[in-house]
Amino acid sequence: MAIAPDQQRKRFGRGEVLQQAPPAPATSLSSCLDRLKRDWRQKGSIAGLWQEWPRLAGPQLAPHCQPLSFRQGILVIGASHPQWRQALLYNRPQLLAALRAAGHEVKDLRIQQHHPKDTPKPESEASIWARHPSRIDVHGMASCDSCGSPAPAGEMALWGKCGFCRSKQLAGPAQPQINV
Ligand SMILES: [Zn+2]
Repeated sequence: MAIAPDQQRKRFGRGEVLQQAPPAPATSLSSCLDRLKRDWRQKGSIAGLWQEWPRLAGPQLAPHCQPLSFRQGILVIGASHPQWRQALLYNRPQLLAALRAAGHEVKDLRIQQHHPKDTPKPESEASIWARHPSRIDVHGMASCDSCGSPAPAGEMALWGKCGFCRSKQLAGPAQPQINV
């Protein structure tokens, strides 16, 4: 059975996921593609499973369940929703048979809940800035309802006042005026 090199393996919850292999130096694109195709066809690898997954799992299950790891014959499949986990459990014998028929040496199938959305990628500074309320070039200008000063329309839409009035508001209630 093929085992991915350590730098391609990444801990992911209780299992692990495969990452893209680092590019081999001075290798032509066509030989890279040939190697990729060969790896895909390789039985007993999760890469091979991924490629065949839509056919093996079927059009209903495949979009909602995905192979997470395949080690020592134990295939871990993640289901996106409890309902799909149930469906997968129900179809487990057929899926196991289909996997074995396709030449994958699967000894056991483990099915677990898997939320790809649980691990969102941190948003880049560039994309935060791209829609920042203070961007006049994106949102245009308006005037602040509170102080009447020209203010970025994005700030007005978000806070109902300009950024300056908002920071005053956040700083706490104004001190009561004491007249002597
Ligand atoms: Zn203002």
